[in-house]
Amino acid sequence: MLKGKVAIVTGSTSGIGLGIATALAAEGCDVVLNGFGEPAAIERLRAGLAEAHGVRTLYVAADVSKPAEIRELIAEASRRFDAVDILVNNAGIQHVAKIVEFPEERWDAVIAINLSAAFHASKAALPLMIAKGWGRIINIASAHGLVASGEKAAYVTAKHGLVGLTKVTAIETANQGVTCNAICPGWVLTPLVQQQIEARARAQGIPVAQAREDLVREKQPMLDYTTPEKIGALAVFLCGEAASTITGAALSIDGGWVAQ
Ligand code: NAD
Repeated sequence: MLKGKVAIVTGSTSGIGLGIATALAAEGCDVVLNGFGEPAAIERLRAGLAEAHGVRTLYVAADVSKPAEIRELIAEASRRFDAVDILVNNAGIQHVAKIVEFPEERWDAVIAINLSAAFHASKAALPLMIAKGWGRIINIASAHGLVASGEKAAYVTAKHGLVGLTKVTAIETANQGVTCNAICPGWVLTPLVQQQIEARARAQGIPVAQAREDLVREKQPMLDYTTPEKIGALAVFLCGEAASTITGAALSIDGGWVAQ
């Protein structure tokens, strides 16, 4: 159903973004990959997706903390594939510290990458979607877009902001064939979370397996980590015809985290 659509997924060299890019490619989308990593490994990813799914793939090494590079990412995708139909704003970073100890430079980086990047990418991509009368924007927020935890001031602020941006985008594009939704995952076992698990194990002097279990138990009634594949499947659903009137929503996929 999505065959021939062009999808950009920011931060898709790893974790959730890679899960979404893979799911969209499996549905026949041409996929633009973005994110950091070792060039040879990224090239293997890019070529592997194209070969496995018979789609066109492109890697653009934009640093989404820089608005000019985001604009170039959208422009390069449009030049090479002649469209931008689906935009997944996924790139994100975390920093864990109390407000009084929070480095100002980390605050600026988390806000730039997790929030402002979605604004700049949406601003650049929306005219292309509106001109075609079809588009999908999916913002990867978090349970932390809906509720807070201590020591994550910048992340919680950025993700709450991203849910707000999602609603405004949905309202402004409601009758132009475009939908915009936020996905709010709970714990997903990716490199971003693995770092937090290892930091916790070190700080508490406990085994990594124990820290992994404690982390999920602290927040989620359901003691399972969500997988990038499941988030990819939700993104595919949001791009499909059955979801054409779902817009401005913040969809939880979080093992009951925010139900409490
Ligand atoms: P990850 O660290 O595995 O992947 C992050 C991706 O973003 C990587 O590809 C990385 O290279 C890229 N990236 C980071 N900074 C970038 C920059 N300046 N420019 C371009 N790319 C950049 O993390 P993940 O867990 O897959 O997280 C992906 C998204 O999902 C994030 O927005 C995160 O906040 C969100 N999320 C994750 C979880 C979780 O439990 N893992 C839960 C809720 C929400």
